[in-house]
This record gives sequence, C-alpha cells and structure tokens, in this order.
Amino acid sequence: MTQEEIWQSVLAQIQLNISRANFATWFKDTRVLEIKEGQAVILVPNSFAKEWLENKYHKSIFKILHGLNEGVREIRYIVNKTETKALPKAPAIETEQLEFQEFKVDKETNLNPRYAFDNFIVGPFNELAQAAAQAVSKKPGSVYNPLFLYGGVGLGKTHLLQAIGNEILKNTVSKKIKYISSEKFTSGVVSSIRNHEMEKFKATYQEIDVLIIDDVQFLAGKEKTQEEFFHVFNSLYEKNKQIIISSDRPPKSISALTERLRSRFEGGMIADIGYPDFETRLAILKAKAEEKKVIFQENIYEYLASNIQKNIRELEGALNRLVAYQKMNKQSPDLDSIKSLLKNILFSPTKVATPRKIIEAVAEFYDLKEKDLLDSCRKKEIVRPRQVAMYLFREELKSSFPFIGKKLGGKDHTTAIYACEKIRKELEKNQTFAEEINLIKQKIFC
Ligand code: ADP
Ligand code: MG
Repeated sequence: MTQEEIWQSVLAQIQLNISRANFATWFKDTRVLEIKEGQAVILVPNSFAKEWLENKYHKSIFKILHGLNEGVREIRYIVNKTETKALPKAPAIETEQLEFQEFKVDKETNLNPRYAFDNFIVGPFNELAQAAAQAVSKKPGSVYNPLFLYGGVGLGKTHLLQAIGNEILKNTVSKKIKYISSEKFTSGVVSSIRNHEMEKFKATYQEIDVLIIDDVQFLAGKEKTQEEFFHVFNSLYEKNKQIIISSDRPPKSISALTERLRSRFEGGMIADIGYPDFETRLAILKAKAEEKKVIFQENIYEYLASNIQKNIRELEGALNRLVAYQKMNKQSPDLDSIKSLLKNILFSPTKVATPRKIIEAVAEFYDLKEKDLLDSCRKKEIVRPRQVAMYLFREELKSSFPFIGKKLGGKDHTTAIYACEKIRKELEKNQTFAEEINLIKQKIFC
C-alpha cells in the first residue's frame, strides 16, 4: 500500500465507527504528508482540528495506523497552511480519550447500547453463559446470584455482561444498574480513601439494584479493595440485588483472592465461555458484515474463520479491515490483498490445533476410525481414546464442555467434565501416559 492508501484505509475504518457529522468535521480534509522513519505526518486543515485529533482521537488513529503499518511509532499533526478553512464549532469538551465504540456509553450506568442479546451469536461454546445471562436479565436478583462468567480475552464476556444490563434497563427503567470494571472500582476505592470519602463511596453502591463488575481477576492481590468489594457484595446480596461478575478464569484459579470472596463467587452460578467453533465463527462474521451492509464471498468468510480461532475481537477487527477495503475500492479484496491487510492478525495456520486435527491424531495414534470417536459407541477400547480427545479439545482449543460432549460421542457436558478431569489426574501420576499424550500433541501440531 502507498502511504496515501494507508491513510485512506485509516479514514475508512474511522468512518465506520463515528457519526457522519463528526467525521466530516474532523477528518474530511486531512491528508498524509509522509510516513518515514516511524513517524507519520498528517496534514490537518486548521489548529482546532489539530488539537481535537491530538486530544481526542489520537489513540484510536494510532491503533488503526499501527495495525496497518507496524513501523509507525509516532504521529504528528500539522496545520496545512495552504488551505485555511473556517473553524468548526467546538463541541462540548470531554477530557478523556475515548474508544470509538464507547461513544454512546451512558454516564450513569456505563452501559453501551451496542451490546445486546440480539447481536450476540450463540454457539455450543457460549450457550451456557448466554442462557444464564438471559435468565438473570429476566429475573434479576432471583435466579442465579451472583452470576460468574469466565473465559479468555475477546470471547464476549463484556458483551454478555453489558447485554444483561441493557436488557434489564429496557424492561424496568426504574432499576439502578451499574457496570464497572474492577480496575475502575479499585481506583474508586483508592481515591475515596485518599479523600476520606469512603462512607460516601459505599453509600453510592448501596443504592444499586444490579451491580456488574468486569474482569474481577484484577482484584487479585489488592486486599483493601477486596475488602471493600466484599462489603458492597454482601450488603447487596442480602437485599437480593443482582451481582454479575466476569473474569478470565474461574474463582478457584484467581490467586490472591481472599477465601471469603472466593466462596461468595462460587456461591452462585458459574459459566464458562470457550473458544468459538468454526460454524459460529462463520455466523459471527456474516452477522457483523451484514450489520455493516457489506457482503463478501463465502470463501472470504471461510478464510477468516479458519485463520482466526481464539479471539472474536480479532475476528471482528479483521473483518473491519476488509469492509474498509471494500468500501474504498468498491470491490472485494483478493487473497493477496487479504493476506497483506491482515498480516499482523493472522498467525500461521499450520501450528494451530483444530478439532479436525485432534480427532485425526487421536484416531491415528490409537489405530481407530475417526467415526468411532464421534459416535456414541461404548466399547472400552474406544471410550478411553475418546476421553483423551476430550481432554485435548479442552486443553488445546479451550472448547466448552457442552461442545466437547456433543462433538465427541453426543454426550452431555458432565461426561466431558468427568473425562477431562480423569485424564488430567492420570497425567499427574503416570509418566508413560504423559509421554503418550505428548506424542499425540506432536501429531496435532506437525
Ligand atoms: P471479552 O470481554 O471477553 O474480552 P468482548 O465482550 O469485549 O470480549 O468481545 C470482543 C468483541 O467481540 C466485541 O466487539 C463483541 O461484541 C464481539 N463478540 C464477542 N462474542 C460475540 C458473539 N457471540 N456474537 C457477536 N459478537 C461477539
Ligand atoms: Mg472484556
């Protein structure tokens, strides 16, 4: 891409994410002067736009630009003296730099209306979490309390948490809902202590009907914050107020979490979100493309879905780039352009485990037919290899238990949990068996 193309592509992506008026005001007359030695110089029409881009949009511009050209480490905005334009009217000043997607976030609840159940695609890997979230949104405070969702990065935790909040808000305007990241909660505690306003801080939480706290693993090791959170938690819980929590791992794996907080978390419903399976990745891509009013050929969706497996945010980011390309060039990218547009997102497909590869490797290792693993046959010589396959699905693909059960032998999630646990225990004790599993892994990753 030439530097002009790069900047056009940045603009195209920005255009997708902000209102038309904002785009016209701040971005329309910008140009790239040069990209050299890690520095991109952007020409802007006037000093007001310069200030605005620097203070408000810089982070997002940088993120996109850096994504397209990793060499860029710095951006300078220079007023283009040859084109002086009338100054745009100044909108109300916001101090923080916001992500584009956070523009419509409600200041009271911290909820972003873009996260809904309607646009959350359900597959075997997240259906338990989604069902629990929906149940809670219908009857806050009475079905599962707390609801604890966990899963890796970019797999939809925040989306689900926010969807619960938005849904409750839709049904009962009178409920007081608050979504907060555990980092923000922590800084609230810290500044309240510093300003001797702890009572006031606690009082604001007393009024909440639904408390949603995201990424609770960041509370690890922060004892004072945990203590305050414990009090907030208890007082809301006793009043049957709903508490919803997310984390990147289950409560028992969050180290330095006080025992009493851990047991509170474990007292409600715990649901995990695994890695999305291929079909759901396709469905997500198609739904998102449709939202953006773009249609790609089937093989493009398949290419993305096969190459990006473990992070829905990345999947979405890749799609956005292709959407931007398509809008700019009025045609779909070909495979070479896709590869160059996505080169820093895609990882080498050869070193990645897939359900297919695991099944093939296990079947080959134990000299069985692949079909035997997939069917429900209960012969002893098949049950154990199937358990091994289940274990590998869990370890290597982070598949959810319901997905594993269904895929391997049409079993339910308890069979999958039992199998994974059994294999894991045996691995700890039996060295020969551990070597056996390693050999299978080598086959998977070769
Ligand atoms: P996490 O909080 O687990 O890191 P997010 O909730 O922020 O992940 O999700 C990352 C992105 O992927 C968001 O833009 C979200 O809307 C999208 N996403 C995640 N899961 C789904 C899904 N099942 N259907 C549609 N979009 C999803
Ligand atoms: Mg999140």
